[in-house]
Amino acid sequence: MSGSPRRRGVTGIVDVVVVGAGHSGLAMSRALAAHGVEHVVLERGEIANAWRHERWDSLRLLTPNWQSRLPGYRYSGPDPDGYMTSAEVVDFIDGYARHVGAPVRTATAVTKLRASDGGYAVETDRGDWRCRAAVLASGAHELAIVPELAARMPRGIRSLTAKEYRSTAGLDWGRVLVVGASATGLQLADEIRRSGRPVTLAVGEHIRMPRLYRGRDIQWWLEAVGILDERYDEVDDIVRARRVPSPQLVGSAQRCTLDLNALREQGVDVVGRLVGVDGNRLQFSGSLANHCAMADLKLNRLLDRIDSWVDEHRAGDIVAAPERFAPTRVETAPRLVLDVAKQPIATVIWATGFRPDYSWLEAPAFDTKGRLCHDGGVAAAPGLYTLGLSFMRRRKSSYMHGAEDDVRDLSEHLVRHLRAVKSVTARAAGSRARQLR
Ligand SMILES: Cc1cc2nc3c(=O)[nH]c(=O)nc-3n(C[C@H](O)[C@H](O)[C@H](O)COP(=O)(O)OP(=O)(O)OC[C@H]3O[C@@H](n4cnc5c(N)ncnc54)[C@H](O)[C@@H]3O)c2cc1C
Repeated sequence: MSGSPRRRGVTGIVDVVVVGAGHSGLAMSRALAAHGVEHVVLERGEIANAWRHERWDSLRLLTPNWQSRLPGYRYSGPDPDGYMTSAEVVDFIDGYARHVGAPVRTATAVTKLRASDGGYAVETDRGDWRCRAAVLASGAHELAIVPELAARMPRGIRSLTAKEYRSTAGLDWGRVLVVGASATGLQLADEIRRSGRPVTLAVGEHIRMPRLYRGRDIQWWLEAVGILDERYDEVDDIVRARRVPSPQLVGSAQRCTLDLNALREQGVDVVGRLVGVDGNRLQFSGSLANHCAMADLKLNRLLDRIDSWVDEHRAGDIVAAPERFAPTRVETAPRLVLDVAKQPIATVIWATGFRPDYSWLEAPAFDTKGRLCHDGGVAAAPGLYTLGLSFMRRRKSSYMHGAEDDVRDLSEHLVRHLRAVKSVTARAAGSRARQLR
């Protein structure tokens, strides 16, 4: 398709529309440019919008700086073992956008994307576009997942999602219940407890990890052993694998481990999953000990795998000795009920996960539960691709450094799709021309 508008009301006609100018959309733009594919990146806010406006103030990446790499671009600062603040991530992605020279239209929100004439019609709040293929790089963390029982929380308790929380300065004084103990929940519980507020942390299934193992960052081991490269079509149960929560890790100058034991030492009240609300009584599952035992077991399996890798590669002399960590301490009878009439809670923070927002997408690509159906990022509707989702093609797909391999694979698929569509269109035009003769 040519870049000039050919239809009334259409702002532009391109081969590909990419929705979202986070790192995923920019990386795809670079790959499309390398393939000579005409495209535009539509961004409702600014470049790296999520890192500018949707993270809490103190957040640092849990991946080390040396791992902050995108196709053709990588961290080159003085602190490879450090962890970027959100502001530093914005600078990094801004730098990437300049490096790539991506054709980004900022302040342009896609309000509808629907199949049309063998391609897609894209409506925005600043004009409409037509394209043959579309890439959904609009983020995996657009909406906070909040369990239904949130609606039954006793009156007077302020409810915040992890996307709404900014810092303890915005909290009322009083006990805070943090629901969810993955990276986000643990980090928020830690920060809020340090502000002097009493904190209760409701813990379900979680992934326990030390920050450092045998003298190296755990992310270094996950890469070396090949865990982050595991593919979506190699695991037994990809639906479950995609639901695995983020590891309990925090990026800090001290490179410290943040786990339930560390939080308990700080005085955090650790309870099981929040499973019910009955008037003023919050009910917690009795599965805390099981969840902790399972997390400890999986941690030890991971460490065993790392130790085997060290042995196989005869690397024992260049890394520190193996170690094992104290099991997670759980009270013999953890509390199952918290009566807020007797022990008031000022705020509940839902750190219960995130999901993408495709409310603007009209395409036959959703399952009965409203989830986008895709095969490693190739959506069920022809010419539609997605990026950055949890374990989308590889375990690392939702991380910044996961974009490189996914974008390479999907841009190649997309280019093949465009060639096929163009050859069908050319054949149809040829046959129409012959009929007219
Ligand atoms: C709390 C948190 C911590 C994380 N920590 C790490 C970490 O330590 N290391 C790591 O590698 N990854 C981390 N991630 C994961 C991941 O890197 C980020 O989620 C990253 O922002 C995803 O990049 P993306 O480009 O896929 O999506 P996003 O950065 O979310 O970009 C999507 C873009 O699409 C735009 N958009 C959305 N809808 C529309 C629309 N309808 N029209 C136009 N534009 C639209 C948004 O404004 C946004 O700019 C973290 C994520 C979260 C939530």
